[in-house]
Amino acid sequence: MTTAATPTTSAAVRAFDASLNEDLDALRRDGLFRPLRVLESAQGPQVDIGGRALISLSSNNYLGLNTHPRLIEAAEQAAAEWGAGTGAVRTIAGTQTLHQELERRLAAFKHTEAALTFGSGYTVNVGVLGSMLEQGDCVVSDKLNHASIIDGIRLTKADRILYEHVDVDDADRALKEARAKGYRRVLLVSDGVFSMDGDIAPLAQLVECAERYEAAVMVDDAHATGVLGSNGRGTTDHFGLHGRVALNIGTLSKAVGVVGGYVCATQAVRDHLIHKARPFLFSSSHPPAVVAACIAAVDVLESEPQLIEQLWENTRHFKEGLRSLGFDIGRSETPITPVMCGEATIAMHLSDLLLERGVFAQGIGFPTVPRGQARVRTIVTATHTTAQLDRALDAFDDAGRKLGLTPPPSAA
Ligand SMILES: *Cc1c(COP(=O)(O)O)cnc(C)c1O
Repeated sequence: MTTAATPTTSAAVRAFDASLNEDLDALRRDGLFRPLRVLESAQGPQVDIGGRALISLSSNNYLGLNTHPRLIEAAEQAAAEWGAGTGAVRTIAGTQTLHQELERRLAAFKHTEAALTFGSGYTVNVGVLGSMLEQGDCVVSDKLNHASIIDGIRLTKADRILYEHVDVDDADRALKEARAKGYRRVLLVSDGVFSMDGDIAPLAQLVECAERYEAAVMVDDAHATGVLGSNGRGTTDHFGLHGRVALNIGTLSKAVGVVGGYVCATQAVRDHLIHKARPFLFSSSHPPAVVAACIAAVDVLESEPQLIEQLWENTRHFKEGLRSLGFDIGRSETPITPVMCGEATIAMHLSDLLLERGVFAQGIGFPTVPRGQARVRTIVTATHTTAQLDRALDAFDDAGRKLGLTPPPSAA
């Protein structure tokens, strides 16, 4: 294969780059400049990076479904039968019986009337919030909601009131304020499981509170689907709230193991989105292989609950290990476990030391988490062996003491 030589760039292109490099230099100074880690293998409990096999604690691949034989077979068959792509947005000619079947299956799985899929979880939030809230409406949002929710809210002309993270009293204050102003639609929005801290939203209390003010609730179960509730149905199921959550949002990119996003809700919500959500109207539909793999993933969730049991067993083992080594692991209640470091430079250093010791766990700093709360975020999966988790704990022990995050052995 030959590659064309890069042509000499013009003065205008170089000047543009120079201005970008000013921004990049600021990131470098703050220790926040990170090259992409390139995997030379499938995403799994172990991955190849730079020719080395590393234990990965970085993916959202909770159940290992990305390499489950039923998903791969479904994808292969669908590509052979239906082709590699769909060649259209769904409102023009890009909806096939496969897309309909996946939506029927998702709605049944989540116990809702209807479902609609999008290109990704990110586009669901941007599409739903951007199309359902207008001037004269109000969104009430947890301060630590995911970036895609924040971006969706930015697209609306609706007013917004933030409440303190998982604080039901403060949510009550926000809803009361919203109702007093006479908005047409009031929507309370929360992550089901918070992606950086691993804590669970107090959804039952939030729903009760919202009902008092006739406000609707939207929950983003990106990190809860496949993890919480019966067969991984998510936080609405976990808290027994079927029929009381207006919008059940989620992703097909994490525990489901493929890519995409969905809304499970009423038929009215689905019809409204089909006509108004811009990422649905102006972006092409999923390739058949993706859709078929997602359908197979729903089959697996319904028929192999032992995967979720193993995920939780591994979670308990790993959390207990980190805690007994003396790490601050925040307020997590789920397989997402942050190892708190304070400054971003320490989190990046810990991540580098872990990498040297055969463990891939990414350091995360501002703006993904607040300043001063940098961390190495870990996610265990159902497919990690106990031996792999123990090896990772040894690496954490060694690196943590080196950085003074945990007590030296004599004091322990
Ligand atoms: C990951 C995530 C998303 C985005 O999902 P993608 O399918 O990766 O685009 C949305 N919301 C939350 C809470 C997430 O954690």
